[in-house]
Amino acid sequence: MPHASRMGEFELIRRHFQRAAPAGSAVVLGVGDDCALLQPPPGELLAISSDMLVEGRHFVAGTDPQALGHKALAVNLSDLAAMGACPLGFTLALSLPAVDDAWLAAFSAGLLALAQQHACPLVGGDTTAGPLNLCITVFGSVAPGRALRRDAAQAGDDLWLSGRTGEARLALERQFGRPWATALALSGAEDADLQTRLHRPEPRLALGRALAGVARAALDVSDGLTGDLGHVLAASRVGACIDEAMLPMAPPLARLHADHRRECLLHGGDDYELLFTADPTRRAEVEAAARSSGTPVTRIGRLEAAPGLRLQTTDGRLQDWPLRGFDHFGAGPSDPGAAASG
Ligand code: ADP
Ligand code: MG
Repeated sequence: MPHASRMGEFELIRRHFQRAAPAGSAVVLGVGDDCALLQPPPGELLAISSDMLVEGRHFVAGTDPQALGHKALAVNLSDLAAMGACPLGFTLALSLPAVDDAWLAAFSAGLLALAQQHACPLVGGDTTAGPLNLCITVFGSVAPGRALRRDAAQAGDDLWLSGRTGEARLALERQFGRPWATALALSGAEDADLQTRLHRPEPRLALGRALAGVARAALDVSDGLTGDLGHVLAASRVGACIDEAMLPMAPPLARLHADHRRECLLHGGDDYELLFTADPTRRAEVEAAARSSGTPVTRIGRLEAAPGLRLQTTDGRLQDWPLRGFDHFGAGPSDPGAAASG
C-alpha cells in the first residue's frame, strides 16, 4: 500500500481483522497463512458467493462504518440463506483510500459482530490502497439435494415471502430527497425502523436452513421483489401471479400513493428477504419452518405455466406486470434522478 509499509499493512490486519476462530468451527487455519483451510461437514456441498460494495454506488460517502461492516457481510450471508446453506467462513478484499484507524475499528466491529452472531469467522482476505471498495466472499455448506436452487420452481407452487419488502427503498428515496418520500410524515419509531431496514439488514439464515428440503426454489430479494422473481421464473421456465392484497407492508408504506407503494413493494431493492416456492401440500411445513426460525412468512401468490407475471390488484383487476428490479447501473446514490423511473 502506498500509504503504509508492509509492516503497517500486517499490523492493520492483525489489529482489525485477525481473531481466533470459535471452537468447533469449520476453520482449521484462519488469517495469516497463504490460504485459509476449511473443513466442511462430510458429504456436504460447498456453497460460495461474492458480493461487492462500491462507494457512490451501493452506499454514499460518509456512511457509518459500523453499519457498513454489518451490511457488507449481511448481503453475503443473505445469499447463503437463500441457498439453504450453513455459513462456514468468509474472506474480505478491501481497498481503502488511506489507513484510518477509527474508521477501520468501527467497520470491523460491525462486520465481526455479525460474523460472531452467525458463527461465520473471517478467514482471510486482501488489503490494498484505492477507492473505498469492499468485496466479501462467503463459504457455506448444504447437503446435496437440499439446496434451494432458482431452477427448481414448478407451476402450481405457492409463492412465499419472508418479512416484508419496500422499507429500504422508501428510506433510500427519503435520503435522495424525493418529494413523494420526504412528504410522508413518520413517527420517530417509524423513521428509525426504515433506517434499520436500509442500513442493518438481518440475513434470514435460520429460515433458509429450515426451508432446505421443504421449499422447492428460493432466492434472496436484493434488487426488488419482481426483478428477482424474474430470475426464478426464467430459470424454472414458469410464470407467476402475485395477489397484491396479500403483500405484507410496514404502516408507512400503506400511507403512500398506490404507484409509489407498488414501486417500493414490488421493485424496491435492498430488502434481503427470502422469496421462495413450495408445493401447496407443504404449507404446514413452511409455517413450521417460519415458527422454528422466528421469521414471519406470507403466501403472496402462485406459480403458473403461462410465462410472465400477473398482478391481481387490490381493486380486482388482473394485470400483466413487469419483472423489473432496482437498476444499479441506471440509478443509485450517485444518480438519484433516475431511481424511480417506473
Ligand atoms: P498474500 O501476499 O499471501 O496474499 P497478504 O499479505 O495479502 O498475503 O495477507 C496476509 C494474510 O492476511 C493472509 O492470510 C490474508 O488472507 C490475510 N488478510 C489480508 N487482508 C485481509 C483482510 N482485509 N481481512 C482478513 N484477512 C486479511
Ligand atoms: Mg494479498
